[in-house]
Amino acid sequence: MLNTSAAAVGLLSVRRSPQFALSDDAAPRRVQTVLGPVAPERLGVTLTHEHAPLVDWSELFETRPAPIAPVREAMLTLSAKLLDAFHRSLSNSQGPGAVVETTPIRVGRYPQLLVDLARRTKVHLIASTGFWCEALAPQHPWAVRMSVQKGGVDQMAKLFVREITQGMEDPSGAWGEKFTEIKAGIIKIGTSTYLRPSERACHVAAAIASRETGCPITTHTTSGGGLEEAELLLKRGASAGKVIIGHQGHLDDRASEEADEYHRLIARLGCYVQFDRVGHKEYEVEKQARQIAKLIEGGFLKQVLASHDHVPYYCPNYAAEEKRAADWKIAEPDYTTVTTELVTSLRRLGVSPAEIRTILLENPQRALAFSAT
Ligand SMILES: [Zn+2]
Repeated sequence: MLNTSAAAVGLLSVRRSPQFALSDDAAPRRVQTVLGPVAPERLGVTLTHEHAPLVDWSELFETRPAPIAPVREAMLTLSAKLLDAFHRSLSNSQGPGAVVETTPIRVGRYPQLLVDLARRTKVHLIASTGFWCEALAPQHPWAVRMSVQKGGVDQMAKLFVREITQGMEDPSGAWGEKFTEIKAGIIKIGTSTYLRPSERACHVAAAIASRETGCPITTHTTSGGGLEEAELLLKRGASAGKVIIGHQGHLDDRASEEADEYHRLIARLGCYVQFDRVGHKEYEVEKQARQIAKLIEGGFLKQVLASHDHVPYYCPNYAAEEKRAADWKIAEPDYTTVTTELVTSLRRLGVSPAEIRTILLENPQRALAFSAT
């Protein structure tokens, strides 16, 4: 069904857009939202790892995605309501708020849907290029093909660069057949508990694309692996200030509940340490606050990020050949736990309002801004 030659995936025609200006230091650094570039200081509090409106792993199991059309309106309405609740939790000096939507290629990333959501909420939305990992499902077959083909890693890097500089792929076509003009603002990759070959290829491609565009990289980890991710990305030329190691706060070194030393090792490399499952049961808020306070004590305040990793709509029976609109599971996750409970816990531990502002506003601005728009 799918022809994966370079021409068929639309990668031979990749060209930098005329405005593309990586090494031009004079070029303004902007955060690339789905509605266009935004000055970083205009974001406000930024949740750096979320999903909205949906995640769908069907293509990882080589089945058709769950239908969107019958639930599209409800998805947009619910997601906008939840994101606006986050917006309302912010004071004027903290607003309007922004969310990094970390759903990568072909796992429920519908660029036009993200634009429609961004138009309905006061919160800025930043979309992701990149491929997910093999942690809880097979790697996407498109990524597998590129990870083993001769020159495939470069093709994958070109795909990421194209999505950042020209526009994201439209999943209504075959792989790489159609593209939108809606640009990604971050590269999402991940690892299983231990790094697998296809995941290594995705990391190398991400490092190449980040080096070429200045675009940040954000990662999924699975009970450990963050240090290996950081080391691999840096070895392949990514800039430490553009690498965000995610899902910290629970068994990060595969053994310790409070892996403070492990967090310090990642921070010492210059990367961001992201506590992005605030509000999840096994990632207790108090525990994550303690871990953040330890990083601050160690002098790494400017490398801490926080978020929830929430998703309102997901379709659990990914492997089923046929899916109906009724199969969607709908949740109403709270996107304000960071700005309420986590902030309260941090204050109790003596973290100052200025330090909290650094974590929630200034660090994301620095991490997300680049000059490839
Ligand atoms: Zn996630």
